[in-house]
Amino acid sequence: MKRCLYCDAHLQVRASWGGIFGVEKEKLLCEKCSGKLESLAGPLCEICGRSLNDLDETYHNGTLCSDCIRWEDDVQWQGVLTKNCSVYQYNSFLKEMMAKFKYRGDYALGEAFGESLLSLYRSECRSNVLVPIPLSDERLYERGFNQADVLASMVGAPVHALKRAHHEEKQSKKTREARIRKVENPFVVVAGVREQVTSAHITIVDDIYTTGATLRYAAKALLDCGAKSVSSLTVARG
Ligand SMILES: [Zn+2]
Ligand SMILES: [Zn+2]
Repeated sequence: MKRCLYCDAHLQVRASWGGIFGVEKEKLLCEKCSGKLESLAGPLCEICGRSLNDLDETYHNGTLCSDCIRWEDDVQWQGVLTKNCSVYQYNSFLKEMMAKFKYRGDYALGEAFGESLLSLYRSECRSNVLVPIPLSDERLYERGFNQADVLASMVGAPVHALKRAHHEEKQSKKTREARIRKVENPFVVVAGVREQVTSAHITIVDDIYTTGATLRYAAKALLDCGAKSVSSLTVARG
């Protein structure tokens, strides 16, 4: 008997022609759980993919949300992330589901996002090189797996092009300005994969787009290494 990956309820398997011929997709979540996931639809911000329907008009100009307008107004960040595609709205149910997946180590639950992530990738960024956002060694040790890597693996063969930088320099040695602006990028490109990054169109994979800062820092590191363009694919838009 199949069970829902999230709530463990028995999954109803209905006999149908699709099922008999094996073309019906296997369900991983029960109807109650899948019904709580909100797909992003309607007018979306052209860069970050957030729903503009939920925003007051003062927070968007019709195509971009005010956060993205701010990012694009800053020469340092202009065009760094071409587009983010998220599957779902980060609602309270998805928050719970993500916590179970990420923090409580339910590795298998990630599979519930696989199909929708793959179809979004196929429609928006097919044939791009997939790069998961890396965890720090400490986090990886704590969790036992990198959720971004699990998600990227369901879409294709990820290239582990990024790692967390270790900025050795002591805080006290930095100039006051550097401390305030936090100019150091938390990511660096791994030396052995430079060839795969140079001139490539890259899609970074992560679980959530929240402020967009993490994804933009990662994109910047890849662009500095010669990537042609960087977009991102995430399960949730926070
Ligand atoms: Zn369920
Ligand atoms: Zn936006």
